[in-house]
Amino acid sequence: MDLCDLAFLRALMRRHGFQTQKDFGQNFLINPEVPVNIAKSACAEGRGVLEIGPGVGCLTRELAKRAEKVVTVEIDEKLAPILNETLSDFDNVSVVYGDVLKLDLRALIEREFAGLDVSVCANLPYYITTPIITKLIEERLPLKTITVMVQREVAQRLCADENSKDNGAISLCVRYFTEPEYLFDVPARDFFPAPSVDSAVIRLTVLPSPRVSVRDEAHMFGLIRAAFSQRRKTLANALSNMTGLDKNELYGYLLSMGKNKDIRGERMSIEDFAKLSDMIKKQHARTLAPENQKKG
Ligand code: SAM
Repeated sequence: MDLCDLAFLRALMRRHGFQTQKDFGQNFLINPEVPVNIAKSACAEGRGVLEIGPGVGCLTRELAKRAEKVVTVEIDEKLAPILNETLSDFDNVSVVYGDVLKLDLRALIEREFAGLDVSVCANLPYYITTPIITKLIEERLPLKTITVMVQREVAQRLCADENSKDNGAISLCVRYFTEPEYLFDVPARDFFPAPSVDSAVIRLTVLPSPRVSVRDEAHMFGLIRAAFSQRRKTLANALSNMTGLDKNELYGYLLSMGKNKDIRGERMSIEDFAKLSDMIKKQHARTLAPENQKKG
């Protein structure tokens, strides 16, 4: 069964009266090397693998060959008859129909993968890439790795650091919880239907504890959000506008950290934001909760 053979895929879909839906981000892989390479990168051996969005099951099959157990979450129940057929030769795969953003993934992992290390692997639907990744890492689910295909620009942002113009709030969040790696590119022609953008596969290895220790995590992420909500401004200007903190006070902190006072947020590492947050917290015993932030 070659699910990546376009003629086979079309015939399978026709036989089941199935048509891809743009609203669900249904672009299926049609280059057989790609699911193999993603599955090889997914640290699946001997593990439980949580897949998001199996489509017709091409990546699911490669994961099932390597993992101890695969649970795959699919929003589109119209794919059920197809998946029943394409996954029928595996007894270590189960499909859960539902919206991954609404599922209690912690409960699902505890129920389905007791005693196993767990990795996530997915060719993600592009319209909800960031909410899914944020959910996976911010909920501190017991995961070892998250290997996902996303739009190339998003991959660059997710793996960016302070030396890259793509560094932003999501890059800093990813780096706080994980070690990101940009693995390989996948061109738009490897999908049916072909999307308008190219893709890339990244792997996030979840750190046993966050990369830096900070007095007040919520305060640090409040600062990060404030810093990037006004991207064209210098960090001190953006923070002063958004939080009401005195600009000279902020200059003082930045200079004491060995930074230029006109540094922009994207040149700051997660370590830098933790340091800045701690200095502000020490000086002002209050949290920069959204209600305390001035409208920008
Ligand atoms: N894994 C297949 C492949 O590589 O060819 C399909 C990937 S396709 C880009 C994304 C899949 O995610 C589709 O099957 C789509 O129906 C499913 N999906 C979209 N939104 C979802 C959601 N909120 N929860 C679970 N699955 C979703």
